[in-house]
Amino acid sequence: MSARPKKSFGQHFLHDRRYIDRIVTAMAPRTDDFVVEIGPGEGALTLPLLAVAGKLTAIELDTDLIPGLQSRAAAAGELHVIEADVLKVNFTAMAHDHGVPRLRIAGNLPYYISSPILFHCVDHAAAIQDMHFMLQKEVVDRMAAEPGSKIYGRLSVMLQLACRVEPLFYVPAEAFRPPPKVESAVVRLVPLAPHELHDAEPQHVYAIVKAAFGQRRKTLSNALKQLMDSDAIRRADIDPKARAETLAPMDFVRLAKVYGAL
Ligand code: SAM
Repeated sequence: MSARPKKSFGQHFLHDRRYIDRIVTAMAPRTDDFVVEIGPGEGALTLPLLAVAGKLTAIELDTDLIPGLQSRAAAAGELHVIEADVLKVNFTAMAHDHGVPRLRIAGNLPYYISSPILFHCVDHAAAIQDMHFMLQKEVVDRMAAEPGSKIYGRLSVMLQLACRVEPLFYVPAEAFRPPPKVESAVVRLVPLAPHELHDAEPQHVYAIVKAAFGQRRKTLSNALKQLMDSDAIRRADIDPKARAETLAPMDFVRLAKVYGAL
């Protein structure tokens, strides 16, 4: 029944029913939700989600998997498959075209492009109600890391400025076929409400965060010297001798605002 999993597509199929059930329970889709799954593969999550939600839109890059998926799903509910690279799918347009305020997204993500997928979703966060993703455990730990931690970095700041990050549970490698070389974890991301969002220019925040963590062992005055001088850093209420890993996400927003005004 199942094809040989393709490494190049990051295919590790979930087969342990206990973890599948925990993801469905954590997400708790309702029949009036617009549920989108990234990378349905052979349907390990698709079929249980369909059974609860009644309908689902799935985005799969590997066209070889789609006929099998369609036939397995036929009895479970209404499945619409988009044959595409998820990075090219415009979630904002999808919500608009279907007349729904926001999407609920789930997926056991292909790990080779997990960060680009996360940033792509963040770009469309206003059209998303929540996301439940299986990722490398180490990536989930970095997403949720707090200032002062060695693993706090660009991913932590950029995600925490856009979403509430809730690590849910770890998943061992044996739960997949074939087992990946790393441990995994499921995380829930809930985009912040409009009043919780910062009002700096996204490209300014991006530039500051990138430069600050590009040289994380240097002081900010050193790491940011191509962008702003020590006086400008002080105007954001930040000590120029501090290092990026000690700053809270909103500190980067203040730096971005001063930078934008230079
Ligand atoms: N959901 C299935 C499961 O849990 O068993 C499969 C998960 S597997 C880790 C990742 C899935 O994402 C594969 O089906 C793979 O073909 C698909 N995929 C890989 N790259 C993709 C991309 N750029 N866009 C959409 N799907 C992709």
